[in-house]
Amino acid sequence: MNKEVNIKELLKELSLSEKIGQLQQLASTFFIENSKGELTGPLKDLGISEDEIWTAGSVLGVNSAEEAYEIQSKYLEKSNSKIPLLFMADIIHGYRTIFPIPLAIGCSWNLENAVLCGQVSAKEASLSGVHVTFSPMVDLVRDPRWGRVMESTGEDTYLNGEFGKAFVKGYQGDLSSPYNIASCVKHFAAYGAVEAGREYNTVDLSDRQLKEYYLPSYKESIDEGAKMVMTSFNTINGIPASGNKYLMRDILRDDFGFEGVAISDWGAVLELMVHGVAADDKEVAYKAIEAGVDIEMMTSCYNKELEKLVREGKVKEELIDEAVLRILKLKKELGLFVNAYGAIDERKAKEMFSCDKHREAVKKVARESMVLLKNDDVLPLKENKRVAVIGPKGNSIDLLGGWSWQGKKEKIATLKEALTNRLGENLVSYAEGCHIDDNDESGFTEATRVASESDIVILALGETSEMSGEGGSRANIGLPGVQEKLADEILRLNKPTVVVLFSGRPLEITSLSAKAPAILEAWFPGTEGSTAVTEVLYGDYNPSGRLTMSFPYAVGQIPVYYNYYNTGRPKLPDGEETRYISQFIDIPNEPLYPFGYGLSYTRYEYTDLKLSSNEMTKDEEIVASVKVKNVGKREGTETVQLYIRDLVGSTVRPMKELKGFKQITLEPQEEVIVNFTITERMLRYYDMNCELVSEPGDFYAMIGSSSENTHKVKFELV
Ligand code: BGC
Repeated sequence: MNKEVNIKELLKELSLSEKIGQLQQLASTFFIENSKGELTGPLKDLGISEDEIWTAGSVLGVNSAEEAYEIQSKYLEKSNSKIPLLFMADIIHGYRTIFPIPLAIGCSWNLENAVLCGQVSAKEASLSGVHVTFSPMVDLVRDPRWGRVMESTGEDTYLNGEFGKAFVKGYQGDLSSPYNIASCVKHFAAYGAVEAGREYNTVDLSDRQLKEYYLPSYKESIDEGAKMVMTSFNTINGIPASGNKYLMRDILRDDFGFEGVAISDWGAVLELMVHGVAADDKEVAYKAIEAGVDIEMMTSCYNKELEKLVREGKVKEELIDEAVLRILKLKKELGLFVNAYGAIDERKAKEMFSCDKHREAVKKVARESMVLLKNDDVLPLKENKRVAVIGPKGNSIDLLGGWSWQGKKEKIATLKEALTNRLGENLVSYAEGCHIDDNDESGFTEATRVASESDIVILALGETSEMSGEGGSRANIGLPGVQEKLADEILRLNKPTVVVLFSGRPLEITSLSAKAPAILEAWFPGTEGSTAVTEVLYGDYNPSGRLTMSFPYAVGQIPVYYNYYNTGRPKLPDGEETRYISQFIDIPNEPLYPFGYGLSYTRYEYTDLKLSSNEMTKDEEIVASVKVKNVGKREGTETVQLYIRDLVGSTVRPMKELKGFKQITLEPQEEVIVNFTITERMLRYYDMNCELVSEPGDFYAMIGSSSENTHKVKFELV
């Protein structure tokens, strides 16, 4: 087949069952044969016949270039239509060379890092036979109990939208190079709002919440050109997303103008039955295709039932044709009709995996992603001192986080090893102290002994990779096991101690943060994470990460996020007291560490906040400017954040909303004026009729170093 393949003509040549086959996605295991030429996949479990394997349209989760090559060539030999298979996989934060988790990349507030992650991932993945990645996940997350917060860039709509675009740009470029891969945005929609943060749970949201907070980040990624969208597992307002016509047709196709391929999440089509909105496979298939799901991932209701539904006149064949055409178009755009094997190149892939350039890239991003939460004069650490590394994360290679199945095949240094590389064997000692998730305290004595013989203690604590990601919801999000007890023992020694946290979510660390003199949140920092941690601890890199998800003071506050609505009973001015305000009587309303927060080894001073005018019409723009000065002794990178508050709206407006940010690097004593242009678009929101409007009235422009630390100035939209 050549490049000029006319997909409409091609469609006409396909039988109905071949067309339906294009809508089927199966895991790579289904295509693998044993030496006798027998298929080894669990065909029966899926109720799929051998013949149907050779009509399937796409493959999920291929394991190597070699495997992709083999599957494609066998498929082209056996299939009637000879339409090449499309290979998709979850390349979420790197393929073999692993970047920090997306939540961490978000905390770098550097969009170029997402582009870089996309590019490096695309290169390694395309050489290994992958055409599409199921990324970015742009679900807005406000509940750290949900394990999948690690895959998102955080709690802010605008920031997630910007990061979504940057990832898409990195993966796809203009798709002209064989080293680009297509991007599938997920999970449509509002998966991040699952009740209680419990995985796969129900979502109930007002249309206004959905449109204002949850949908824009998908839209931004789609506008950037993302080729695919994945449905979510959850129900939304009573209807599962994968059978939700309102979401998939009215919003995705009609409002957003999305013309790409919509794929279900794994098994989510059949789950319509489990949710209880379809009685059998046939009704499932009917509902999903009507709702606009083009590809069914890993169940086979389409294969079993669509042909019947068409013959009975219940589903129009045009509906199937539309879906198939979208898939063929993507195959064409990816160049599969010119070269079914794309960029597959095992030798080159091996050269790329973990090459110096890629390792440098992941290390850079890791450094910029870490957030210094507390520092009472402990950091940066002094060289040439004896260091005790204590804790279950201290000599662990579990630094990659979820979705790193390929990354585990590469060499990863533990924190102890990275420190030894830097300081030499004599200066580094180690004791595990305890495991992550049991209650065994027998290692405390040894840990205390090792710590007491050192000058400095690095307490390396946190979660295992399995404790976040898919299926990783936790109701208690403190440090698992007896790690906090271990920390208590060690902190009692009163040594200069820094806690380094490795986690896939904001943890509940209120009591720890009261006791520990320094805390660095390193997240799951990736392949070069341990070296990046040492570079931050010793001050080679001045930490610049800022939280994109609030650290709750207590789980009972959740959801806790910065852009909340004022209540009719807000906090009273200092000195005034009553119990009849919106508060908890046992804990503060505020999170422990808010959105936008993060320390540096230097300090910045904000002065002279000004507006170019205190009034603007809808056609005008005004400029907000602020002077930022590095008043400390070290060079540093500051993220200057612009928030806006609409003081009176026809519906309640949040206390502040992020509308822009700029990163600046300043030498000691250097100062710059940072400008933000405020446009009418920034002032829009969904009113009570769910129309996107801006309303005349007063606004605050607030600029500062975090959502809790801003200067404000008033202006009016006239
Ligand atoms: C996850 C998706 C993922 C898919 C394919 C599902 O279980 O929810 O995020 O892309 O599996 O692996």
